[in-house]
Amino acid sequence: MPNSGHYSLLLVGGGHSHALVLAQWRRQGRPKGRIALVNDHPFAPYSGMLPGLLAGHYQPEQCFIDLAKLCASLDIEFMVDSLQGVQASQRQVQLGQGQLSFDYLSLNTGAQPQPNSELGGEAAVVAVKPVHGFLRAYQQALTAQQHNWLVVGGGAAAVEVVLAMAHRLRNLGSHCRLTLGYSGQLLAGYPRALVSRVQQQLQDYGVQCQADFRWLSWQQGQAIGRKSSGVADGVQGAGMGEGMDKNVAQQQAQEVRLPADRVWLCTPVRPAHWLAQSDLALSPQGFMAVTPELQSLNQPRVFAAGDLADCLAQPRPKAGVFAVRQAPTLAHNLSAIMAGRPLRALRLQQNFLSLLALGNQQAIGSKGQLPLALPWRCPRLEAWLWQQKNSIDRRFMRQFE
Ligand SMILES: Cc1cc2nc3c(=O)[nH]c(=O)nc-3n(C[C@H](O)[C@H](O)[C@H](O)COP(=O)(O)OP(=O)(O)OC[C@H]3O[C@@H](n4cnc5c(N)ncnc54)[C@H](O)[C@@H]3O)c2cc1C
Repeated sequence: MPNSGHYSLLLVGGGHSHALVLAQWRRQGRPKGRIALVNDHPFAPYSGMLPGLLAGHYQPEQCFIDLAKLCASLDIEFMVDSLQGVQASQRQVQLGQGQLSFDYLSLNTGAQPQPNSELGGEAAVVAVKPVHGFLRAYQQALTAQQHNWLVVGGGAAAVEVVLAMAHRLRNLGSHCRLTLGYSGQLLAGYPRALVSRVQQQLQDYGVQCQADFRWLSWQQGQAIGRKSSGVADGVQGAGMGEGMDKNVAQQQAQEVRLPADRVWLCTPVRPAHWLAQSDLALSPQGFMAVTPELQSLNQPRVFAAGDLADCLAQPRPKAGVFAVRQAPTLAHNLSAIMAGRPLRALRLQQNFLSLLALGNQQAIGSKGQLPLALPWRCPRLEAWLWQQKNSIDRRFMRQFE
């Protein structure tokens, strides 16, 4: 039967912010009225524990939030469905299986590197999000006889993913080779000591690094990328004979082909396709533009948090830590607007603690430009940081038990 009905408050997307909003309401009481949460899966992944899951340190049930159970404990309806569109001025959302109307709407559907629909149906290329599809592909790939995997991305998530995979493959005695392909700087914005330590760890695990690699596509066992740094060395003289088109030669010289049975995309996230078709104000990057109260710039009945939203007054990188920090403000403001009370503005810190798992049960980190790492291996510090990360992550998950 299609989903339908009218809700005082509709929560769409079971991301980190909404999960925490529900946990807070469980402690402090929820707003009155008919409330529902819609998510495209009954279980929501906690990103902090994903690298540990990939490496084999955690079981899946430790890393997922049971949204249906959380909602049931608050007398909130839960629906498994996928958001397809928002017509905020008509107070309606379009789902895969029906349509719902609302007095107030809160969105927390995250963002993905590249929608699977754009990946040309190639099973060999899998984006790290949506996480459920990624984990299915990973489990299947672990048991297949494969020779080369490529992880694309140069940020913290890509580094954690490639090191976790390297650890798991090593423990399985696999001979599958791993390459990390990235353009720009590896771990841009992180302190130098931390980057040096990561480079050493990649080397220790035998991960090849392909710098200056801008991902394009995959064809018959090869990942194709382009160098971003202009014409490659030697192009001017090489193969530029009579009649050869200069542009074609330059293009070929800039192309990089890497052997890859599997490509795992951990590239920066993009806005969901339905945002551009909605009547919500967007940021220049195409994400939903919100005020410091997490309210839409043009539709005050609509709120948003996490990777989906851009707070123009306080721009921050897309990271789970901000989705988490936004949750208390979102919980307060949703309750407040429904009760006619004043809203509260968010104040996000610039610097945040970032802990990076190194594959084995060790971690390094940073807070702003302060490194929690030495450029060389420091087993006691790294084991201690992993314990800290493990206990922070487990404490986070205990809120939903
Ligand atoms: C491997 C990895 C490790 C990471 N580690 C860290 C870390 O240590 N620290 C950190 O700060 N960040 C980390 N990140 C980044 C982090 O994952 C994101 O920034 C964070 O998940 C964003 O949270 P969110 O609340 O916006 O939404 P998400 O956590 O992305 O959740 C969105 C939810 O909405 C659902 N959904 C999506 N689309 C729809 C739809 N159309 N309809 C219905 N439901 C939908 C999804 O299934 C999901 O349950 C990591 C990312 C990866 C890939």
